[in-house]
Amino acid sequence: MNIEQSYLKIKSTIPQSVKLVAVSKTKPIEDIKTLYSLGQRVFGENKVQELVSKYEELPKDIQWHMIGHLQTNKVKYIAPFISVIHSVDSFKLLTEINNKAKNSNRTIDCLLQFHVAKEEAKFGFKLDTFKELFNNQDFTLFPNVRIIGIMGMASFTSDKSLIISEFNKLSSIFNQLKQLYFIDNKYFTEISMGMSGDYLEAIAEGATMVRVGSSIFGARNYH
Ligand SMILES: *Cc1c(COP(=O)(O)O)cnc(C)c1O
Repeated sequence: MNIEQSYLKIKSTIPQSVKLVAVSKTKPIEDIKTLYSLGQRVFGENKVQELVSKYEELPKDIQWHMIGHLQTNKVKYIAPFISVIHSVDSFKLLTEINNKAKNSNRTIDCLLQFHVAKEEAKFGFKLDTFKELFNNQDFTLFPNVRIIGIMGMASFTSDKSLIISEFNKLSSIFNQLKQLYFIDNKYFTEISMGMSGDYLEAIAEGATMVRVGSSIFGARNYH
């Protein structure tokens, strides 16, 4: 299958209420243009430099999502245009996004990243540490950030029941945060979970955004 066919096939399996983030990392501009011509407007990248150069070259009605780990010193490069940051995993990063969004006269939509996979945690909050850190946190102190939900990844495994239980855990974290911090916040609605191998399971467990790369664009080549 070519990229058009793969895209249309994946798209046909995703309910309209779920947003497809086409993960274009490492892929050329031409591939993004192909999907753009089919109507896709939401693309995900995980490296700041690549994101900025693609933003500069491509149509300005594309909504760019930052899905990879973001260093605080790089926020300034994407703050003027980024649509959603999926990977907010520290208080420091949230503060910096707020500052740089303010400088650009913007409000940036953000997702809090949670770690539920069984692999060693590289990035992402655990629910307990999040509660300690953000206990009584007044999120209105970040007027240029809009926290619209959470993001997470399942374990890298073929064990579907483990993957499903991890997505279920993310949904439960979302519900708890909603109750504890965002009960009056009409924007806190999103659960970003599911990739090429597991997006259907993620949707069944409540995903509102799925991040699909290789099954649309083909396998990535990292050299
Ligand atoms: C690369 C990546 C994806 C897409 O992965 P595929 O398996 O290619 O669909 C999704 N989410 C994150 C955070 C990624 O880094």
